Amino acid sequence: AVAGLMVATVGSRQFMGRRPFPSWLTWGMPLLYAAILWTLLETRSEIARQVSITSAGIFVVCALNAVSLWPARGDAVRVSSRLMACIFGYNALFFLVRAAFGAIHPSPETQSEASWDITITLLNALIISVMVATTYTAMVTEYLQADLKRQAELDPLTGLHNRRSFDTRAGEAIRRARRFGGSLALLYLDLDQFKAINDRFGHPAGDEVLRQLAEIVTASLRDSDLSARLGGEEFAILLPRVDCQAALAVAERIRRGMQDLRFDGHDEPFQVTVSIGLATFDHSGDDLDRLSRRADQALYRAKEEGRNRTVIGTG
Ligand code: GH3
Ligand code: MG
Ligand code: MG
Repeated sequence: AVAGLMVATVGSRQFMGRRPFPSWLTWGMPLLYAAILWTLLETRSEIARQVSITSAGIFVVCALNAVSLWPARGDAVRVSSRLMACIFGYNALFFLVRAAFGAIHPSPETQSEASWDITITLLNALIISVMVATTYTAMVTEYLQADLKRQAELDPLTGLHNRRSFDTRAGEAIRRARRFGGSLALLYLDLDQFKAINDRFGHPAGDEVLRQLAEIVTASLRDSDLSARLGGEEFAILLPRVDCQAALAVAERIRRGMQDLRFDGHDEPFQVTVSIGLATFDHSGDDLDRLSRRADQALYRAKEEGRNRTVIGTG
């Protein structure tokens, strides 16, 4: 039982993306228990003591499993894994009580007391296995659902949001800004002379540039910021609670990060720059459409004025 539960716990940690246990724990726990049980059987110790010691082992592993399953912030599977953690937490308690009972009350006084223990434990095992099986199915379903949602929202090349997801989330952020006040900035980014890079060094080199830009963008943002690849070599960033000065600083950090990057390993080393249009939310009935238009116009001006620069949109 201890070995089986240990396998389940190792599986839980893998499923939840937790750091695996050190191998001394994974292997040591079942081995230790095998050794203890073997000794108990060899020395023909009392049944109650065997029960108590085995229960203590099951308690420890179930508790470890419950802790491993408890969802952390940002986990994709949350509801069903919490339920599963509760089931194992309950089971841990059950066996803790059983272990304690066996320890306090070493030998069952009567035959019926012993059979009571067996009945309750079997009943418990039955209930637990039904609940675990059902919840397991729910966990797999929840995982697949979350995965599907992620795939529908993210751009596969860069891992940033796609346009649809960006529009939805940006719309929500703007409604929040309108309702509760507070500033908000939108950046539009477009790589400079990107077609020439593709033509000269090939499409895979172009894709590498896109991924690198996405990395620079991600590294320059906070958790509450939203970044997306709108399509092709065009990116958008929404910065909530950020004024024009701070947004300009973010834009310039990204622009300079791109400018300083050298791409090696192709016919010859090359560099790529990015132009950025910046627009800030004004509270006189602005919406995503109008904000986007200002950012786009600013980007257009950045291109006209010679590229590799940030231009702030007005009016
Ligand atoms: P500008 O400085 O005016 O923006 O010039 P540009 O060449 O970047 O502008 P244009 O919009 O004409 O070119 C965009 C190019 O982006 C066209 C296409 O070759 C390239 N592109 C679009 N999507 C992808 C992609 O997914 N991967 C790669 N490698 N290239 C792409
Ligand atoms: Mg373009
Ligand atoms: Mg371009």
